[in-house]
Amino acid sequence: MNPLTSFYRTFSSQRFPHAVLLEGATRELAASFIAAWLCENMAQEPCGVCSHCQKAANWGHVDVTVLTNVEDKQIPVDDVRALVAQSYVKPNEAARRVFVIENAHKLNLHGQNALLKCIEEPPPSVCFLLLTPNKKELLPTILSRVTLYSLPGAAAEFSEEALDAAEKIAHALAQNDEWAVLSATAPFDKAKPLMLESLTALKDHLRAALLIAGGAGELAENTNAYQLAQLGSARLSRLAERVQELERDAERNANQALLRARISATFFS
Ligand SMILES: [Zn+2]
Repeated sequence: MNPLTSFYRTFSSQRFPHAVLLEGATRELAASFIAAWLCENMAQEPCGVCSHCQKAANWGHVDVTVLTNVEDKQIPVDDVRALVAQSYVKPNEAARRVFVIENAHKLNLHGQNALLKCIEEPPPSVCFLLLTPNKKELLPTILSRVTLYSLPGAAAEFSEEALDAAEKIAHALAQNDEWAVLSATAPFDKAKPLMLESLTALKDHLRAALLIAGGAGELAENTNAYQLAQLGSARLSRLAERVQELERDAERNANQALLRARISATFFS
């Protein structure tokens, strides 16, 4: 069943979720989720004609508050706290208020923690909609408190080759072994797509390690992450920034062998 239909069905029993994570959805689809919460005639689906439906479709409803990031930066934790404070204010026009967090993966550890209590037990007239391209970037504590709707193909799986390369690089970084990083990146010499995919996979390792270094120890599936976490938050954040620099360079720079050679140098400079 498609995610939208299964969400709509929860309304017939009045057991609809108050906190939803939508993975891989367009804004248009997200608007349909919002409309379902706000529509005054919600039955099998939002009616589409009431003022709430129409305003929701344009993302222009006064009871919809949208929080998002700018320019690929993280969402400041103060913005999250302000949003949580607002959630105790009664709705203006509709029966509910909807708080949308776009690019929820841009919430940092503090931001995600600031949200926890609120999404666990939102005030009765409040609903949360978190949007992200990839749920893996959210804390397990968030994931366990939301109802997840994933779009098919939302989170692309990595190829074996990329996973393998990322794991080797992560391991080498944890050992502070520049030569091992260099050797792990050798397959990238003639393969930019593999390099980019591996860097993306590497970010998962770094992110997991950052969470562990930040005290979120329940994230246990990846042993590399524990080793990496020993590097400490400051070093890990720098490494994550360096990965992003490398990704930007890769878009501009055509010489793949040079790019590849720069990876280890970048990490250890
Ligand atoms: Zn309606």
